[in-house]
Amino acid sequence: MPDLRAVIDDIVKQRGAISVAEYMALALGHPQYGYYMTRDPFGSNGDFTTAPEISQLFGEMVGVWVASVWERAGKPDNVRLVELGPGRGTLMADILRAVKNAGTFLDDTTIHLVEFSPTLRAAQRDKLNGHNVTWHDHIDDVPPGFTMIIANEFFDALPIEQAVFHDGHWRKRMITAAEEDLIFTIGPALNGIHVQNPTDGAIYEYAPMAADIMAALSRRVADRGGAMLIIDYGDDVPVDERVGDTLQALHKHAPAPVLENTGLSDITAHVSFAALRDVALENMCAPAPVITQREFLLSHGIHMRADHLSRAATDAQRADMLAGLGRLVDADKMGHLFKVLEVYG
Ligand code: SAH
Repeated sequence: MPDLRAVIDDIVKQRGAISVAEYMALALGHPQYGYYMTRDPFGSNGDFTTAPEISQLFGEMVGVWVASVWERAGKPDNVRLVELGPGRGTLMADILRAVKNAGTFLDDTTIHLVEFSPTLRAAQRDKLNGHNVTWHDHIDDVPPGFTMIIANEFFDALPIEQAVFHDGHWRKRMITAAEEDLIFTIGPALNGIHVQNPTDGAIYEYAPMAADIMAALSRRVADRGGAMLIIDYGDDVPVDERVGDTLQALHKHAPAPVLENTGLSDITAHVSFAALRDVALENMCAPAPVITQREFLLSHGIHMRADHLSRAATDAQRADMLAGLGRLVDADKMGHLFKVLEVYG
């Protein structure tokens, strides 16, 4: 039995069933056995591959975005460049290379990484060696200043709650231990869900932790000036119309059962961009309309950059780069499933 299962069994014995968010938080973030705490999950030997690990073009386009926001804001001093959940540090390394020539941007910019995994903090330290980097547990610990925030595949890893429509009421979806297996059960009634005409068994998702973090980010950007760029897989369906179970687990690049091998597979949920926009608006920020990753990368010149890099590349490097480009922008790959939200203070 995996170690984390024993931890969950103990909690269930003491307090009864746990919520989906409690389960997800344990599976991903338990200090000893949590999925992210002990491993580097990325790449062909891991469980999943993210855009910055596919191609340097991705981070370079984010760098173009960073430089253009900074210029439009009148080239403020003392910029805080923040990344949430930086993984191996690849995205930040590519951004920093891309903005090297953007005037004086890097002269007094400090880099702040919000990361909860000691293993990944170490990988980031190696990758960003030589830059002025500090690590934080929370955005509120980042020193004041004009703030640019980047988050790629961060929000999908934050714990979500689920509600089930049962006998005419929304009830919290819970998880409990039954002999060998963990199973879903139905918990207390929930108020405040406004979906029209739900059918029996319908699932509604909400993300309290994502909302809290988004509120803190928005307050900061509204107070100090700045912008955020949130990239993730998800949808822009209005909150009151959004029904469906998007919780999923991945192990070795293949779908895995969410309630098995807890702590050994990655668990994520689709990000509700509509919910994130609502929180930004409530906190005095200006969210742009949500666009696809394809639209974002094309409008920041990814094809031009790929052409430029091709000129100095070998045939094998060129083929590799074009394959990476396709994975990032093609409609049937990441191009449409991944969405981009820009928020301005
Ligand atoms: N942005 C990277 C990695 C995405 S994976 C990339 O695109 O490759 C998710 C990242 O978020 C990991 O670095 C993980 O350790 C971090 N993370 C997940 N939940 C977190 C939390 N609650 N607090 C801080 N970091 C978290």
